[in-house]
Amino acid sequence: MADALISQPREVLKRYFGYDGFRPNQQQVVDAILQGRDVLAVMPTGAGKSICYQVPAMCLMGYTLVVSPLISLMKDQVNALDAAGVPAGCINSSVSAAGRREAVQGVMDGSVKLLYVSPERLETEEFRDLCANFPPQMIAIDEAHCISQWGHDFRPSYMRLRRFIESLPQRPPVCAFTATATERVRQDILEQLALRDPFTVVASFDRPNLRFSVIRPRERDKDKRLLELLEKHSGESGIIYCSTRKAVEAVYDLLCEKGISAARYHAALPQAERRASQEDFIYDRASVIVATNAFGMGIDKSDVRFVIHYNMPLDLEEYYQEAGRAGRDGEPAECVLLYTPKDVKTAEFMVIRSKDEADLDADTRYEQVQRAQDRLRQMTFYSTTSDCLRGFILKYFGETAPGYCGACGNCETEFEDRDVTEDAQKIISCVYRLQQRGRQLGRAAIVDILRGSKTERITQNGFDTLSTYGLLADESKTHVRFVMEELINREILGVTHGQYPQVVFTQSSGEFLRNGEPFVIKVPKEKPKQGLVKD
Ligand code: ADP
Ligand code: ZN
Repeated sequence: MADALISQPREVLKRYFGYDGFRPNQQQVVDAILQGRDVLAVMPTGAGKSICYQVPAMCLMGYTLVVSPLISLMKDQVNALDAAGVPAGCINSSVSAAGRREAVQGVMDGSVKLLYVSPERLETEEFRDLCANFPPQMIAIDEAHCISQWGHDFRPSYMRLRRFIESLPQRPPVCAFTATATERVRQDILEQLALRDPFTVVASFDRPNLRFSVIRPRERDKDKRLLELLEKHSGESGIIYCSTRKAVEAVYDLLCEKGISAARYHAALPQAERRASQEDFIYDRASVIVATNAFGMGIDKSDVRFVIHYNMPLDLEEYYQEAGRAGRDGEPAECVLLYTPKDVKTAEFMVIRSKDEADLDADTRYEQVQRAQDRLRQMTFYSTTSDCLRGFILKYFGETAPGYCGACGNCETEFEDRDVTEDAQKIISCVYRLQQRGRQLGRAAIVDILRGSKTERITQNGFDTLSTYGLLADESKTHVRFVMEELINREILGVTHGQYPQVVFTQSSGEFLRNGEPFVIKVPKEKPKQGLVKD
């Protein structure tokens, strides 16, 4: 095989990309591709997946087809490759007719080595003709988890990849790349793409230099905690992720007011401003960038020292990808999630909305919502667990992990057991009484009833006449909510799926009450306050 190569991988790596050596998994993937094998490479963000197909592309005759879902990034990637002397082109809906002709011409005269396309393009007549006459030497599929309905970013257009590959006169090696490692998604990629005896690498997702923690402030203390974190990291580079544009604006204003040099980034800003923000951050003119999840893909800044999530993301895939932008240089970095129950509610809305926008038939949509809700539940577990956070993440991604890493917020906190059996019973009884009246309510409403709030909704519906009304009036909202969340986590109470999830009394709830089981939660041990005198 080696003598059929037009260049040697190491030379290509050095000459075009300027690197002296491959990283461990890269070498293996490159070798496998050059031997003509299919590949499935599961590697975390930042591991260097692109090199794995870009280098072989330069070593092989002909051109490599790269399928990528991110139209906005394709152009940047192609420009960067061109600048490094790697002839690349792209075809997608945002490229002009003239630009497309140029790329096609490049394929025909053999000057283009990498052709980036969106999956939708594969179905056009023009493109099929091109590939029938000039078949690619290799197909690289970026973000391959988009093919899986179990994945967090399902794109129906990816489902048609297989047919496209099978329609080629001769099937080239197919290489799938993803940073999503759950077992189901992995299996799905193998099956949906019909990979043939693929060389498979699954890199460890552990990032030992990242310290994970979750802070659970009261809603009104959130900004205060954020500012404390920023003070601790003053002068360092960091990203603050928010789930909505509105939140980005609010946090950005807060930072400006406090004199912190910040930039902001979300999809509603004009492109010029987005680009300027991005550059201010990359070139350290702004130390912090406040952004929605629109920010970060394709950004390569290695010295990000902290990533703070001001809101909880929709799933751990997203969380880990965003948090993973910290510490790419291998130096210690911190990933903090600021969790408040309100974020769960926002996230529930967003799950439904995101699936509404996708072009899916009713059954698929229903399944997609269910799965997204399951992922959100796992995300919520992560936010409320007292177990090792690193262990939680690694297990989620299908790795075996020790129960104690010694270097995450939970491992560093001493927890103590607190028996909250009575509170748990009161919560369950409240759900039961409501159900007797033919009513099911969401978490927040139940907390309000238990705490004896006098909201209009409560009085109008006569919830204040329930025997359980006000039973937990002395407890904080956070506490009641926390116990309820734990009851849901442990499946003692149920929740419905849907836009407004409701808490339901189940068989397990009944058993729990009948058996009088103790209910113990873990709470951080109070540190003795030093030198604080209350007046
Ligand atoms: P991924 O797609 O896996 O998230 P990228 O392909 O964007 O990762 O690569 C992440 C960073 O690592 C980039 O800055 C890239 O240039 C760098 N990189 C990749 N391979 C090597 C290598 N062999 N040596 C040094 N740096 C590398
Ligand atoms: Zn830990």
